[in-house]
Amino acid sequence: MTASPEPVSLDTAAPAPAPLEKTPLEAYVAPDKPSLVGFSRAALKEALIGIGVPPAQTKMRVQQIWHWIYVRGAQNFDVMTTMSKDLRVELDRHFTLARPEVVAEQVSSDGTRKWLLRLPGDGTAGNPHEVECVYIPETDRGTLCVSSQVGCTLTCSFCHTGTQRLVRNLTAGEIVGQILVARDRLGEWPGGTPPTDGIVPTDGGRFISNIVMMGMGEPLYNFEAVRDALLVAADGEGIGISKRRITLSTSGVVPNIVRAGDEIGVMLAVSLHAVRDSVRDELVPLNKKYPIAQLMEACRNYPGLNNARRITFEYVMLKGVNDSLADAKALVKLVKGIPAKINLIPFNPWPGTRYECSDWEQIEKFSEYVFAAGYSSPVRTPRGRDISAACGQLKSETERLTARERMALRAMAMTE
Ligand code: SAH
Ligand code: SF4
Repeated sequence: MTASPEPVSLDTAAPAPAPLEKTPLEAYVAPDKPSLVGFSRAALKEALIGIGVPPAQTKMRVQQIWHWIYVRGAQNFDVMTTMSKDLRVELDRHFTLARPEVVAEQVSSDGTRKWLLRLPGDGTAGNPHEVECVYIPETDRGTLCVSSQVGCTLTCSFCHTGTQRLVRNLTAGEIVGQILVARDRLGEWPGGTPPTDGIVPTDGGRFISNIVMMGMGEPLYNFEAVRDALLVAADGEGIGISKRRITLSTSGVVPNIVRAGDEIGVMLAVSLHAVRDSVRDELVPLNKKYPIAQLMEACRNYPGLNNARRITFEYVMLKGVNDSLADAKALVKLVKGIPAKINLIPFNPWPGTRYECSDWEQIEKFSEYVFAAGYSSPVRTPRGRDISAACGQLKSETERLTARERMALRAMAMTE
């Protein structure tokens, strides 16, 4: 994969394709042997043809490899015993099944788990490329919060990720790799040993039943990789997480919203956070480019939107900034006519922030108003606070660690 500094359009047939807004895959260093994790079926087929697999066999081989990677959790080719030894050796000569490296693992008393993951590339000034991935178990589901970028080019004033200097897009493999790492660590492969501590989903279902693209980064500024990764995650013969259980959260990259609906088809969450442009300009500076009216228009036109597939509007509760009853009223007015849920998020403070979380009574009043107006308005309960696993805090703790502390964490992770 090469860096592509220019905006690239995927539309080949359209007469005047809208340019795809994206962050370049800056500073990505492809490993000598690529990992097959995250390859689409078509790319996998190409790869097999490239190493001399007869074209007539590729369909079956793709099917087998797909099953080994995404159903059985294979970490090397040797275990793929449904294929000849010769082919396994050949695959191993050219490819790996590598996932991002786990540098640290933290487990909260409530069962929330956070992994710090190292990606290829040494970054600038010795800053390694690292992202975080968080697993949040509830009794009826297990949600994996996945990152799409190292850092974020956007600079939302209440978000810690926005203060990070280093930015690069993740590849599709690095995004899918986070799901595989989580399954590795949760023992969620046939024959694995799942955890028994903290909250464990008990509906007889899976440990990872839901995915939210709410980790570090703006997924719609890394559209192609996020799309390709989510299509792999939703593939019914592999990881098999239904698109209705996958949510992509965006700060409002308007031109890419319709494409997300058309080409990915997952649930959409929109980080609204304010009802007036003057306030949203301050909180989510992308609003200056795509103001509220344009954003709401894009939401109304989100492909596949209906009462069973609602848009979630995220709204971070900031004391004295956006949390008045007048704001709640304006919010209800704004989303009128859109099949919507409103998700109120208590602000997670980080060192140096100028914001405070709204008082609990204020959050309740706000929530009651929105609820009475007919909208489901859950307040997102903070989870894993003891390990800073909440939104906007990802990676902030580990960034402050010294090299020695990092080594210690790493050693700890390896002995678990
Ligand atoms: N970039 C995307 C997805 C990642 S952020 C987006 O902005 O939507 C996931 C959610 O966490 C967003 O709604 C974001 O606004 C919110 N968030 C960021 N920092 C936060 C903080 N400190 N406290 C609470 N929510 C925060
Ligand atoms: Fe980026 Fe989302 Fe944070 Fe804004 S809230 S800086 S878009 S990660």
